[in-house]
Amino acid sequence: MVLDRPHSALQPERREIPQPGLGQVLLKVRACAVCRTDLHVVDGELPDIHYPIVPGHEIVGEVAGCGAGVDIPIGTRLGVPWLGSTCGSCEYCRSGRENLCDTAQFTGCQIDGGYAEYTVADARFCLPLPSDLDDIHAAPLLCAGLIGYRALAMTGDARRVGLYGFGAAAHIVAQVARFQGRECHAFVRSGDTEAVAFARELGCVWAGASDEAAPAPLDAAIIFAPVGALVPHALAAVRKGGTVVCGGIHMSDIPSFPYSLLWGERVLRSVANLTRRDGEEFLALAPRVPIRTHVKTFPLEAANEALQQLREGRLSGAAVLLPHG
Ligand SMILES: [Zn+2]
Ligand SMILES: [Zn+2]
Repeated sequence: MVLDRPHSALQPERREIPQPGLGQVLLKVRACAVCRTDLHVVDGELPDIHYPIVPGHEIVGEVAGCGAGVDIPIGTRLGVPWLGSTCGSCEYCRSGRENLCDTAQFTGCQIDGGYAEYTVADARFCLPLPSDLDDIHAAPLLCAGLIGYRALAMTGDARRVGLYGFGAAAHIVAQVARFQGRECHAFVRSGDTEAVAFARELGCVWAGASDEAAPAPLDAAIIFAPVGALVPHALAAVRKGGTVVCGGIHMSDIPSFPYSLLWGERVLRSVANLTRRDGEEFLALAPRVPIRTHVKTFPLEAANEALQQLREGRLSGAAVLLPHG
């Protein structure tokens, strides 16, 4: 499924099975989850998208071939995340912050991704997957889970954590946070009673509308919804010294707000992309929680419908595309 230009529907396209190049694996895609970032790609809201592009960066695939320099047994199951390649030599890469690499390339943005029957990926950036999760339930871990995990880590030892937007990422973070002994408060769209019930079911101690006051000051908040207006709300909800983490790759403009909301050593920060180390840590942790992802599957050719349901907030958990039925 190919996006030829921004603001258009993905189009099915017949292509030859790609050949893995130097350092690459050829993967038969078993499942690919749908991420909000895919909507930002469709809407042309990210810099440097290479059209035409096959979106999809939460890929569970099995090795179907190896390029030169790669020796992975055929049939091995691997995950392909958003971080598709880095330079390995810039200041960020050399200091353990490859997520910030100046010339990183991203799956489903500059590199054709997983809305396809087959894909090729740089073997060094593929992640091993826990065997006790099936393809469909593992796929959302590869971005929603990973970015959520990185965002949660940025809150340090915060015990009472607010989650703004209760979609694919938050539904995984809530499970990790609970496992770590934290208390989650979920803030959802006003009137979304399903999301409130979903958050409570996943162990959140409180769930309500995003313009409601939290029942107690939060130690930290993570904003997953791409809504800049939530930033002052979240800052107002955290105690002195608390952190607000913006977990999305794109957000509408943040309205101006009084300095008093930031005063008291509150911290406002973003998380960007992921490192391979995040991937290894998180995928090792996932079976210990154990994380149970909630998914809704679609055939690959229904990718536009899955994106539309995500856009309209009609999904609980994550949408997952199945290219081979
Ligand atoms: Zn670099
Ligand atoms: Zn993503």
